[in-house]
Amino acid sequence: MYKNYHTHTYRCKHAQGDVNDYAKVAIDNKVAVLGFSDHTPLPDNRWTDVRMELQELGGYISAIESTQIDFPQLTILKGMECEFADEYAGFYKDELLGRLKFDYIIAGAHYYPLNGDWVSSYNGSMEKYQLKAYAEYVVRAINSGLFAFIAHPDLFGSAYEQWDRNAASCSRYILEAAQDMKVPLEINGYGLRKPKRTTPEGMRSMYPWMQFWELAAEYDIRVVMNSDAHKPSDVTANIDEACSIARRYGLKAADLSYLEKGRKA
Ligand SMILES: [Zn+2]
Ligand SMILES: [Zn+2]
Repeated sequence: MYKNYHTHTYRCKHAQGDVNDYAKVAIDNKVAVLGFSDHTPLPDNRWTDVRMELQELGGYISAIESTQIDFPQLTILKGMECEFADEYAGFYKDELLGRLKFDYIIAGAHYYPLNGDWVSSYNGSMEKYQLKAYAEYVVRAINSGLFAFIAHPDLFGSAYEQWDRNAASCSRYILEAAQDMKVPLEINGYGLRKPKRTTPEGMRSMYPWMQFWELAAEYDIRVVMNSDAHKPSDVTANIDEACSIARRYGLKAADLSYLEKGRKA
């Protein structure tokens, strides 16, 4: 049976399908737990090109709640993928996890702050000082204690070209924080579906970046293997491959069953 805690909906403007479309595919594909973690809206309606608007939040919640009723054989969780920033911590804690009773939220560092600006983690070439800023940002998200796991912590592999001492030390910084805070890290299936990257070391996936996970084996951390589905047919996509990466490096799977407690109550 599969568990996938990273699923989007059409509301983020770069995914297809609604909650019930994913649930139908999940039922046909031996999925026991389907967690929705669409890109969160922000209280100031920032970055709405890749996320729902604040006024769509109610529709997202009711889509999840009505699908929970329609598909009782499937455990459907109400989550959100968030950009961490101090100014949003109150919204995540009091509004999403508090008043709106989300089962969990996750952090994804799609941008990171640098000299007063937010920089994309995907594009261009990332220099050493930028990777340091990225790692510091991910560590702040881990230390916030708000997130059930960190989505694609090795996303920097899409912008940083070659594994080097700096990549290793920034990765160690992230891994050590995850170990200390007991926050699981995600081996992301979406990265495995994206075009490969040609580097001086040869072809590799942008993320998961294998050197990161090889290094992770030196730490007492837990991992979560998700499809990061952006269309219903991808509900279990690349989860097997992500699990085989975990096995290759001897990484232990996180037990996220505690997230379901709200559902069974
Ligand atoms: Zn997305
Ligand atoms: Zn993401």
